Amino acid sequence: MGKFDDLLLKAKDLAGVAGNKAQEVAELTKLKLQATQMRNEIDSNYMKLGEIIYELNKNGTQNEELVSMCVAEIEAKLKELDEINQKINEMKKVVKCPDCGAESPVGSLFCSRCGASLSMGEDSRNAENFQEEEGAASTSEHGISETDAPEETETSETSLPEETK
Ligand SMILES: [Zn+2]
Repeated sequence: MGKFDDLLLKAKDLAGVAGNKAQEVAELTKLKLQATQMRNEIDSNYMKLGEIIYELNKNGTQNEELVSMCVAEIEAKLKELDEINQKINEMKKVVKCPDCGAESPVGSLFCSRCGASLSMGEDSRNAENFQEEEGAASTSEHGISETDAPEETETSETSLPEETK
């Protein structure tokens, strides 16, 4: 299957822009599958941890070492899941709110649902790239409406040059 997919991607690469789009979709699908699998693993780990604690408690024993090993494993997997989700968000050009988890377009300063600040250190790189694109698009007016960020349109003309440097 892997080889065939490679050939397919190569064939689509030759088709140019359309191929890149297809490759992007394929990559996104792969990441989403990874995220689902990771989520399932985490869920089953939660269940195992619950069983372990149940058994320990039922037998009137404690084993903090065992429990904290399980917790550490779950935390590592949660971190991996987070990284996968971040990659997905980067491809979808959205940022996730740290407070409520709602998705907003890359470059948004505040969450569209709860209003929390979205300007974090790591994301500013993406925001910068996005603003460059937006700035280029603003000369032809119609580019902005596609970004789904109605609140930003009024400031984009005046405040951009200062903020990007
Ligand atoms: Zn939010």
